[in-house]
Parts: sequence; structure tokens; C-alpha cells
Amino acid sequence: MPGTLYLVPTPIGNLSDISDRCRAVLADADFIAAEDTRVSLRLLNALDLKKELVSYHEHNKARSGPAIVKRLESGETCALVTDAGTPAISDPGEDLVRLCIDAGITVCAIPGPCALVTALCASGLPTGRFCFEGFLPMQKKERAVRLAELKSETRTMIFYEAPHRLGQTLEALAAAFGGGRRISLCRELTKLYEEYTRTTLAGALELLQTAPPRGEYVLVVEGAQPVQNAPDIQAAVRQVQSLMRDGLSRKAAAKHVAEQTGIKKNELYEASLAINETGEA
Ligand code: SAM
Repeated sequence: MPGTLYLVPTPIGNLSDISDRCRAVLADADFIAAEDTRVSLRLLNALDLKKELVSYHEHNKARSGPAIVKRLESGETCALVTDAGTPAISDPGEDLVRLCIDAGITVCAIPGPCALVTALCASGLPTGRFCFEGFLPMQKKERAVRLAELKSETRTMIFYEAPHRLGQTLEALAAAFGGGRRISLCRELTKLYEEYTRTTLAGALELLQTAPPRGEYVLVVEGAQPVQNAPDIQAAVRQVQSLMRDGLSRKAAAKHVAEQTGIKKNELYEASLAINETGEA
């Protein structure tokens, strides 16, 4: 019987955020697949665990992925960890999950630390509907295309970014969305210098002039204001006419429909008169 691939989230800064369940899965796994085995070895040492570590990252995944699947097929259990946070979110874990599912291997995701959720929760921006955009494309042209697609996105947007690209990313965001759009710069989450800067895109760019970016960042950006659909004047006039057929005066019918649609009552009155004169409904 094949084994199981466990996706094990690890702390994004504060070691105490490792859960009992994650610790137990790491302890029970036959081996651990890690993005950077040196980083994960430090975690295992801190947890007082000794376990075989195999390397699985962006540059060896084509070779390492099938080798891990083979071991799982032979009945072994694997825990996948990345440098920090939830595996498969903006890291190559996604590909291993796909390989395992295609091979009929059970994949079990354990809940735990995740930078995007942590940032969103305390951003102060709407959390009811949001979209995760991960890292924006590095190439200027591709990035501009992606941002143009997002210009009218009304949900709160979440981006990951490396500190050395923060300035150019904020500039690109401000150029695409306008400097007045609200942003929460979420820095060094769960760490000693954790900081949420709640400002606008223009404000964030100004801040960067005085304080160069340090540490890790999640950017939570307000969505676009929803476009109000213009009221349908013709439909409203038809409503006025229908009320008039039911016996209401033109004035009363226009007033009633105006209250329902937000269209000015004089406008409705005049429009219904004009239609009467031209005979068009
Ligand atoms: N899979 C991880 C997760 O979702 O939690 C994220 C991996 S991604 C390769 C790394 C990015 O996550 C960083 O560039 C940064 O944008 C964000 N990140 C990770 N830890 C963070 C922290 N402590 N504070 C702020 N951002 C963090």
C-alpha cells in the first residue's frame, strides 16, 4: 500500500508557532523532503528530531520529485517542508502535490503558519473576498500586463515580494492602481521587528525614501471601488408608464420610480412625456 505525502507548515519566524500535530508528523515520517536541507536541519535540531532529509527545490524538482514519488509508492511516508510557511504556496511544493495525486498517492495538508493569511488578517483591509497573487512577474512587460489585468479587481489583493524589489513593485502598483489606493505593508511577521504599515501606495513610496526595506514583506492592497451600474432609464420609464396605466398620475408614478431607482423624478417625468410624444417606449 502506498504511503502518504504530508504537507507540513513550519514557522514563518516564531518557532513556537509549530503545532503539536506538525511535530508529530515530522517525528513519524520515514523521511522529510525539504526546500533547503540546511534550514530544515536547524528546525529539526530545535525540535530535537533526527530524520533523513532529502532535497526538493525549484532546481532539482524534475529529478527529485519522481524519486520521492517512488519511495511513497513503496509504502514510505514523506513530510514535505519548505523554508518557512505552508508548502505549495508560492513554492515548488505545488508540483510534488500534482505528481503524487497523479500517482494515486494520498496527500494530507496540515494547517499552520502561512504568511499571506497572517498578513491579511491584521491588514485592516476587507477580508471577506480576497485574491492571492503571489510574486508578480519579474519582467517589466509581463508585470505591467498582470497589473493591467488587476486594475479593476475589487477584491483585496495579496502579493509576496523580496525586499530588494519592494521599491520597483510599489512603483508599478502605484502606476497601475493610482497612488491613493490603500496598502498594508506587512513586514517580518511573527518576528521581533514585526510591523504593519497601513498607508497608501503613494505614502508607502514616500516612506521608502527615508527607511530602506529590510526583512520579508507581504503586500496587502485594497481592491478597486466597484463600478456602480448606471440606472437603466428606459426600463424606469416603462415602469412609470405601467404605473400610469394602473391609474397613478404621471407625477406620482415618476416620484415612485425615482425613489426606487435613484433617478431624478423630473428626469423621469420629462422622459416619459417625451416618449409619449414620439410614441417610442
Ligand atoms: N509558502 C510560504 C507561505 O505561504 O507562508 C511562502 C513562501 S514564499 C517563497 C516566501 C515569501 O513569503 C517571502 O518573499 C515573503 O513575501 C513572504 N513571507 C514569508 N515569511 C514572512 C514573514 N515572516 N513576514 C513577511 N513576509 C513573509
